Amino acid sequence: MLALGIDIGGTNARAAVVEVATGRLLASAKEAWTDRTPENVVSVVQALVSKVTAGHELTGVAAGVGFAGMLRGDVVVNAPNLGWRDVDFGGPLSAALGRRVRLVNDLSAAAWGELKAGAARGASDSFTVFVGTGVGSAIINDDVLLSGATGVAGEFGHTKVLADGGRLCGCGEHGCLEAYMGGAKLTEWMAESGIAGTPADLERLALEGATPAKGLYDFAVGHLALAIANQVTVLNPAVLVLGGGVLLRCPGIIKRVTTVVMTRASVTSRSGLRIALAELGDDSGLVGAALLGR
Ligand SMILES: [Zn+2]
Repeated sequence: MLALGIDIGGTNARAAVVEVATGRLLASAKEAWTDRTPENVVSVVQALVSKVTAGHELTGVAAGVGFAGMLRGDVVVNAPNLGWRDVDFGGPLSAALGRRVRLVNDLSAAAWGELKAGAARGASDSFTVFVGTGVGSAIINDDVLLSGATGVAGEFGHTKVLADGGRLCGCGEHGCLEAYMGGAKLTEWMAESGIAGTPADLERLALEGATPAKGLYDFAVGHLALAIANQVTVLNPAVLVLGGGVLLRCPGIIKRVTTVVMTRASVTSRSGLRIALAELGDDSGLVGAALLGR
């Protein structure tokens, strides 16, 4: 059995034919944006889909679409990377592809991919945290993605680390975890503090005890670790999946998160907890979208 997955990110679009039983990509194609208007995005995706589906039997198979943005059904409410607000995307895309489409948040898609074909394989309850440019999470409870009343549940990056004020986040609010720990905002904060380089450079300096690197690192990573431990207490997942470019390039962050979760999450919620690193890399969203689309 085959599935069709599409991943629409801030820099490119990807499409793939996925084998449902294994999550394996049988064909995939990618194209970087030169024009981010909804009309062009639809035509780029249409071309990618005809390329990957050639030679595969996918008649009547719906497409799952992982989308980097806030969604309500077929409507993209807000996609800062594409500059979209309140765009009906599902309708035109479905018409262009001649098949039903299901839009899902990219992080939800990635969490689903990891649950069905990656690090959380075999589990029904997972809490997935990705730290890359931003900080995101997805909650799967008893094989169902938690979406909340208006579809924005799991916005873990926008939980606050201070009761009042704090650094400005990309979402427009102050004091969000992402405003400190998201790769883009952390790099800004480093530059303001006279620290050059990437979050991995910050980690190296901090672990050597250099100031002010250690102060920034301890604040950001300490809050990330405690926030994850508290979510484990609330959600009692079977698997905590950690992924994203910043996390996977900073072994010190993974170590700190693991230690704090295993000492500060409640004993009952963490007993039996498995902590695993995301396994599917850049493909998790594509695989998850395909499997959710079916
Ligand atoms: Zn925020």
